[in-house]
Amino acid sequence: MIKHWINGKHWDGAPSRAGDVYDPSTGKVANQVAFASVSEVDAAVSSAAEAFASWRNASLAQRSTVMFKFRELLNERKGELAQIVSAEHGKVVSDAGGEIQRALESVEYACGIPQLLKGGFSENASTRVDVYSIQQPVGVVGVISPFNFPAMVPLWFVPTAIACGNTVVLKPSEKDPSASIFLAELFAEAGLPDGVLNVVHGDKVAVDRLLEHPTVKAISFVGSTPIARYVYETGTSHGKRVQALGGAKNHMVVLPDADLDLAADAAVSAGFGSAGERCMAISVVVAVGPVGDELVSKIKSRIADVKVGSGPSCEMGPLVTGVHRDKVTSYLDAGVSEGAALVVDGRDHPIDGAADGFWLGPTLFDHVGTDMTIYTDEIFGPVLSVVRASSYDEAVEMVNNNRYGNGTAIFTNDGGAARRFQNEIEVGMVGVNVPIPVPVAYYSFGGWKESLFGDAHAYGPHGVHFFTRSKVITSRWLDPSHGGVNLGFPQNT
Ligand code: NAD
Repeated sequence: MIKHWINGKHWDGAPSRAGDVYDPSTGKVANQVAFASVSEVDAAVSSAAEAFASWRNASLAQRSTVMFKFRELLNERKGELAQIVSAEHGKVVSDAGGEIQRALESVEYACGIPQLLKGGFSENASTRVDVYSIQQPVGVVGVISPFNFPAMVPLWFVPTAIACGNTVVLKPSEKDPSASIFLAELFAEAGLPDGVLNVVHGDKVAVDRLLEHPTVKAISFVGSTPIARYVYETGTSHGKRVQALGGAKNHMVVLPDADLDLAADAAVSAGFGSAGERCMAISVVVAVGPVGDELVSKIKSRIADVKVGSGPSCEMGPLVTGVHRDKVTSYLDAGVSEGAALVVDGRDHPIDGAADGFWLGPTLFDHVGTDMTIYTDEIFGPVLSVVRASSYDEAVEMVNNNRYGNGTAIFTNDGGAARRFQNEIEVGMVGVNVPIPVPVAYYSFGGWKESLFGDAHAYGPHGVHFFTRSKVITSRWLDPSHGGVNLGFPQNT
């Protein structure tokens, strides 16, 4: 049984509810995870509230020392964590390692917290009056994360939140909960005081309690768009600041002058890496002008080489659950019945793994229309659609009309076209000949439109802004030679 982590230790109660955790490569139940009740969430929030009283005053030196130590430990033990992620999520170990490498960047950013929290100071704003700003923590913060990056997404938020002086209750996905517990143990080993980071497992019951709990002051959420909208609306109606990152449908626009080999390589790695279960995965390739046939043929030939299975040489693992695999598979029939051309059927792909695993090989559709469900829905699996566009303008209009705006990419050798694209496209993260433009940690991660509710993106400068409240102090100290107390109204002289 995977238990909660409350006040610096594994919770020793007996859960009233629990869920199954699968090994997606075999399809077998591998473990059980406790589902928190309201009172268990309350215990975690109380522990965080108690810890906040002293952690908010921990020196910047102490906070960054913990963060540096955590960074060292995570780097030393990333191989172990990659195995844990792979076992419950299904992504291949090398891909899980990549997730942790990107997560380390956020930890490293938080190591610089003394620099990041520097305020401004204006001496003599008025005579003998100084004005300065400080950034203070908001209090207890709830972090609710999705299944697809069980190590990286919690680490988008937790290091910055605690480095800013907050305390955290993390509610990871119930599908792959072990990575969060591993991280909590590493933080404890790094010297983080008890109660600063708590982990509660569970489902809607736990999420709703965090959204309603009066002691929780901020919520960082990542997941699908319907739940992101719900979390944003419920959290803000309870007076909390909320950042809720939602789903995606990422387009890769290929202009006629692009290097088609580079574009085909990118489409395959960005479309099928992690079995397409990435919020920045490419799910639509927009072939502009005459390049469609050649591009489709190049993508098709590369798909044949993708090694799907659970062995060390494999590039793509299973989907996270049988239910999800079946839902993704249903889009293969839907696409055909809606009139798209099924160029590669993932059900026919060779699989190097146990028969009952949640497998589906890479699928390629061509001649997809923007009214088809394979275009309109976020499939979140290894299904790539090619849409033909007659011009650059038509391609841009298509991307801008899509309700999601997480990531997009343009492939071209024309710098002017790329520059125009970055200006005109209504998407939060844009790649130029880069298919998955996840920002480095010293920028911030976030989409537009229905891919983000709230105005603060994740990590980087936005993260520091989200996890702090600004205070501006106007102070006046009399010159000792003045002598005596001035009870008059402040003068601007
Ligand atoms: P999900 O929305 O099903 O779950 C996310 C979290 O919400 C989980 O912790 C889950 O337990 C909780 N939850 C689920 N249903 C709930 C409900 N009815 N009420 C309250 N809480 C609920 O998402 P998922 O399937 O775990 O993750 C995949 C989704 O996340 C995809 O849509 C993907 O695009 C998105 N995602 C977005 C980003 C981004 O940065 N925009 C990053 C990663 C994943």
